[in-house]
Amino acid sequence: MSANDCLFCKIIAGDIPAEIIYRDDQVLAFRDINPRAPIHVLVIPQKHVDSLASVTEEQRDIMGKIMIVAREIAAAEGLSESGYRAVINVGLDGGQTISHLHLHLLGGRTLHWPPG
Ligand code: 5GP
Ligand code: ZN
Repeated sequence: MSANDCLFCKIIAGDIPAEIIYRDDQVLAFRDINPRAPIHVLVIPQKHVDSLASVTEEQRDIMGKIMIVAREIAAAEGLSESGYRAVINVGLDGGQTISHLHLHLLGGRTLHWPPG
């Protein structure tokens, strides 16, 4: 998918509204429109990447940044003690529906394992 017709690129550009809770020059985080837990945040790179499956060695830093931002948001949302889950769905079998790499941060309830 090209960045032009990507929903999450439109959220980054401000063309589609979202409840943005964190933004820097590389990363954006916003609340999921259909939350699967009391806290459900998506952390995405601002530069379009289709999926974890297409991440290259050059994107090592941004992947690390996404994890650190997820940890910071979890702490800010009061999840550090109770715990939470950080998930990247990849491709069809992984349940990825939006082709712009995103990390799901889920918390605020006990999450089951394994996921469906
Ligand atoms: P995936 O299934 O690709 O791993 O996750 C995509 C996520 O994006 C889903 O949890 C879905 O609810 C969320 N989502 C889809 N469209 C929108 C939108 O327009 N705004 C927001 N905030 N989240 C969205
Ligand atoms: Zn995109």
